Amino acid sequence: MSEPTNEARPFLSVVVPAYNEQDSLGPMHAALLAALEPWGRSFEVLYVDDGSRDDSMRVLHELAADPRVKVIQFRRNYGQTAAMAAGFEHARGEVICPIDADLQNDPGDIPLLVAKLEEGYDLVAGIRAKRQDKALTVVIPSKIANRIIAKVTGVDLKDNGCTLKAFRSEVLHDVHLYGEAHRFIAAFAAMAGARITQLPVRHHARRWGVSKYNLSKTFRVVLDLITVRFLLAYATKPTYFFGRFAFGCFGLGGLSLAWTLVQRFASGIFVKDQPLFVVGIFFLLSGLQLLLFGLLAELNMRTYYESQGKPTYFVRQRLNVAAPIRG
Ligand code: UDP
Ligand code: MG
Repeated sequence: MSEPTNEARPFLSVVVPAYNEQDSLGPMHAALLAALEPWGRSFEVLYVDDGSRDDSMRVLHELAADPRVKVIQFRRNYGQTAAMAAGFEHARGEVICPIDADLQNDPGDIPLLVAKLEEGYDLVAGIRAKRQDKALTVVIPSKIANRIIAKVTGVDLKDNGCTLKAFRSEVLHDVHLYGEAHRFIAAFAAMAGARITQLPVRHHARRWGVSKYNLSKTFRVVLDLITVRFLLAYATKPTYFFGRFAFGCFGLGGLSLAWTLVQRFASGIFVKDQPLFVVGIFFLLSGLQLLLFGLLAELNMRTYYESQGKPTYFVRQRLNVAAPIRG
């Protein structure tokens, strides 16, 4: 995905988003090396500094003396999703493994996730066993959120919020991550037909620095979930989505108006004296708006796919046939 360099392509790319993690980064890197060097496979580590205001960059400068360490520094804080997306785009490994910078995930789990991946999966999602966060404000809301996400996306994952995962680099090829969408990586991958499995991973309490999140992230996650659901189900057919509501409105409007007519002729109540008349007109107009809105969305969708030559499907394998040239 990134510019070609002379270096050989590593097997694994570890992607580490970091925001104000000056004290964690040193121990984090030591733990990564301790886990990956004895393993004997080639790797690179991409640290994405998400506009830290502490000394994180100084630490990363030191770590970058090792050519396997790649550092991307953002101009300002864009959020964990953008940091991870930048890491994925610069990663050259066959397998990509995102992990938190604060050592709450255990780098020792990376080889285990990769081994599971090689049993024939496209993505292995970590499940934080014995989660070490505050029960009331973190663990319980996140349990509920995971249930909702599973229902809405149709992909039953126990722990969407766990950063630690391993996946084949192709899996996210046409997936762009916005907002808090790094939580939906596995759901997106499943939608694109990836073979997914889950594996319990260790989880530790944060030892340095502070958590960057509070309860307000729940609202952002819920809004993102609505977007994700819409994209998954209707991205290529928005008129179907809006059309359903439009027909609902036409139905309600038609019924309301029909009832005012019945009242007029059966009970002699003039239409101007019936509030339902206005309600009926309201529904008909809303329906019309929704229908036109769906058509606009349809135009937008076509521009989106066709201007960028994006396929509307994902291919797992081709036998005796090359990928079409898109222009
Ligand atoms: N992070 C980031 N940008 C942000 C917020 C967080 O890159 O705006 C990184 C952070 O440095 C850490 C990871 O995302 O490596 C997870 O954040 P945190 O540990 O604060 O989340 P929690 O574990 O409390 O859910
Ligand atoms: Mg953390």
